[in-house]
Amino acid sequence: MELIHQGKVRDVYADGGDLVLVASNRVSVYDVILPTEIPDKGALLTALSLWWFERLADVVPNHVVSAEDVPAEFAGRAVRVKRLDMVKVEAVVRGYLTGSVLDAYRATGTVNGVALPPGLEDGSRLPEPVYTPTTKADVGDHDEAETFAQTADRLGAGLAARVRDLTLDVYRRGAEIALAKGIIIADTKLEFGLDEDGVLTLADEVLTSDSSRFWDASGWKPGQVQPSFDKQFVRDWARSTGWRPDDAEAPEIPADIVEATRARYIEAYELLTGRRW
Ligand code: ATP
Ligand code: MG
Repeated sequence: MELIHQGKVRDVYADGGDLVLVASNRVSVYDVILPTEIPDKGALLTALSLWWFERLADVVPNHVVSAEDVPAEFAGRAVRVKRLDMVKVEAVVRGYLTGSVLDAYRATGTVNGVALPPGLEDGSRLPEPVYTPTTKADVGDHDEAETFAQTADRLGAGLAARVRDLTLDVYRRGAEIALAKGIIIADTKLEFGLDEDGVLTLADEVLTSDSSRFWDASGWKPGQVQPSFDKQFVRDWARSTGWRPDDAEAPEIPADIVEATRARYIEAYELLTGRRW
């Protein structure tokens, strides 16, 4: 197989007309890959994505061809997928207000051009899920927030609207399933592509602890840092060391933080799927 792309977390191989996405144990925060790996992370994210793709199959077609038909050395953390013409937008949807959009909300009362009610805090539930797309930057660049109108200008109004509507559908269904299991999906990022017949298809990974914020529903309270099952833990630790994303070298993750992060990924997987890791 030919390695055609090495992402922050996944290695992408071409194999015949398909791609094989291989999830590594790498972890990135603020678009920077940290020098320490999280054991089992690649397999956990792969298994969780596959679980979601199945559950969402009546909402959206997906790119999965096979989880078995992959080279033995990658088994468990690789998926054979349809090679799609990727739509150049990171389809972000938020059910709760936190993270990168907080500053914009506080300054303007809007996020990605959408007006929100006043008085929301970090962690507040939004009245309705809000679509907050970003550009899909080239390797090394940061994705930029944009309004729906800006996405529509780039992609065409029809395609932009189909991506937005499917993103909201996936989020609504996923958030409902997760909440019944004690997990709030605060926000998530989806990627779509067009298949050879022009069918808009869900690609990449879906509703994982890398692409989403997963909060413990029982501990959720607006105005505080939410107890989470995602890499927020690593982000917070990295910040606490004094490291900044623009610094040349990222710090090694200490063993206790690695283990606590792995435990969070496992807990999310077990709560959602009802399976033992
Ligand atoms: P970037 O998305 O900026 O390249 P990344 O670090 O997010 O970087 P990874 O998620 O590690 O990348 O790698 C997965 C890559 O494979 C992404 O570029 C994603 O857009 C692409 N991809 C996922 N599914 C498909 C598909 N079915 N067809 C073509 N490309 C895909
Ligand atoms: Mg990615």
